[in-house]
Amino acid sequence: MIKFTELKAAARIEDLARLFGGVPDRRGMCRCVLHDDKTPSMKIDAEKQLFYCFGCGAGGDIITLAQLHEGLSAPEAAKFIDCALGLGLDREIPGSERRDIMLRAKKRHFREMLRRDREAEKEKRLYSALCGEMHRLREAMNAEPPGDEKAALAKKLNQTELLINLIDEQYRNEVI
Ligand SMILES: [Zn+2]
Repeated sequence: MIKFTELKAAARIEDLARLFGGVPDRRGMCRCVLHDDKTPSMKIDAEKQLFYCFGCGAGGDIITLAQLHEGLSAPEAAKFIDCALGLGLDREIPGSERRDIMLRAKKRHFREMLRRDREAEKEKRLYSALCGEMHRLREAMNAEPPGDEKAALAKKLNQTELLINLIDEQYRNEVI
């Protein structure tokens, strides 16, 4: 069995977060890998080797992160980290089992990254559609429509701008 202190000295929490599909920015913020997170709520503290999610309240060290993500006990989580990050600390784990755990983790990682790419692509399309709509509404406003029509246009324009701002904010916080 692996000593937790030995594991924690060898493993990096940011590597595990990345394996789970988190993409920490310069401040260590990323979308939480433990709940369905739309904006980056999870802080990966590379210096202290701790994590905390401001969204779901989960927090702890690298072993806790693996435990919560994989649904494992602490010793099982330590084994998972050792294999998935390719550390090779526990000499008792057979090579085939080691490769199996790593391969499964990598496969899930790529599936998760692919899913996020697709989501980002959808968002980009929505964003450009919203921008087009905003320009159309602004032009219609400039054409001096009658009062009630103008009020309806203004309301729509307001909502469109609000959505654009929301997406803008999200991208400002996330460095992909
Ligand atoms: Zn969370």
